[in-house]
Amino acid sequence: MEEIILLKQGEMVLKGLNKHKFEQILLNNIRYRLRDLGRFEIVSRQSVVYIKALDPNTNIDDAFQRLKNVFGVISLNKAVYCDKNKETIAETAIEYLKDDMKEAKSFKVESKRGDKTFPLTSIELSQYVGDILSDNYPNVKVDMHTPDFIVNIEVRENAAYIHGMPVKGAGGMPLGSNGKAVTLLSGGIDSPVSTYLIAKRGVKLIPIHFFSYPYTSNLAKQKVIEIGHILTEYCGSMTLEVVPFTRIQEQIKANCPFRYYTLVMRRFMMRIAERIASDNDCKAIVTGENLGQVASQTMEAMASSQDVLKLPVLQPLVGLDKEEIVHLSRKIGTYEKSIEPYEDCCTVFTPKHPETHPMIEDVRNAESLLDTARLVDEAVTGIERIRL
Ligand code: ATP
Ligand code: MG
Repeated sequence: MEEIILLKQGEMVLKGLNKHKFEQILLNNIRYRLRDLGRFEIVSRQSVVYIKALDPNTNIDDAFQRLKNVFGVISLNKAVYCDKNKETIAETAIEYLKDDMKEAKSFKVESKRGDKTFPLTSIELSQYVGDILSDNYPNVKVDMHTPDFIVNIEVRENAAYIHGMPVKGAGGMPLGSNGKAVTLLSGGIDSPVSTYLIAKRGVKLIPIHFFSYPYTSNLAKQKVIEIGHILTEYCGSMTLEVVPFTRIQEQIKANCPFRYYTLVMRRFMMRIAERIASDNDCKAIVTGENLGQVASQTMEAMASSQDVLKLPVLQPLVGLDKEEIVHLSRKIGTYEKSIEPYEDCCTVFTPKHPETHPMIEDVRNAESLLDTARLVDEAVTGIERIRL
């Protein structure tokens, strides 16, 4: 019995004319994700992707684990296939599902008939296979309403497929199907989660980190690189842009009223992010901002940073509670790294009494002594790019 993987496509099946394009992107992403595990045949039929290993020693469980994190998939199964006759289907189900059937207390069979020439109706096939499974596993009751375990049979054009209960997929839309954006990645808890959530909507991302050596250490940078590595599991390979930020921070400190320090600093982050975005055909800037969390995340403070931008800022965490963000952070596996105690450039110089409800005019005045264009140019020239 040869095990294969079936993936059910998500939202993109609704996309009408773009469906084909979305599907091609998904298939490419799957191919990329499996590239170092062996050779696979990957085909899509009626919103289901069939993945079959072509080399006998391929570890299908490894492939399955990876595919759980591919966006655009709502559910996935390991399955076997067999000839399309009811006796073979029943025998195959008895053998393939024996571990599940030994564990279950109750079960039912659900059949789908994609091949309308198959001689039994779906109900007849379910009854036939259900009866035989009952005879072979007498301790497992048939329960049509709330079974522990559902045996799925799909009779398709080329074969019959048999599988147990589906596993939930990563959801969202295929990476790359919704354009590109830059994402501001600190070493904190929030920004890895905001990065994940926007990638989930199909957006390919370029992470940007503002680095203030020697105020922040190489260990702090290393931490961001490691967080970036974890995110590649969802976001695919990325190039981290590490922006030297020390000089800008020192210039702000020396030339601006200190109450406005953080607000002016955030305007520089936005300007630099927009520059990197336009150099890379990115259409938005993603941040981990969260309304009211800190002094620089009031509505007025956000307006002050966005005052310097044309591109939209995407803030997927804006309305979440910290607890919800932490939950997501644990789920995607970045939490433990994020709580390692290294400093961030944002905390290098923090005013004791920051301006929390600034007037945009006042922030513009506060930075008027700075040569913003030159400072941005210098920072962009000094960018270090790290392939993740
Ligand atoms: P995080 O947990 O993501 O660090 P935070 O709650 O600490 O967020 P802030 O420090 O106010 O919030 O930063 C708000 C957002 O600005 C971050 O979520 C991130 O997107 C971006 N940001 C902050 N510091 C940096 C940095 N050093 N490099 C890149 N982006 C940053
Ligand atoms: Mg932070």
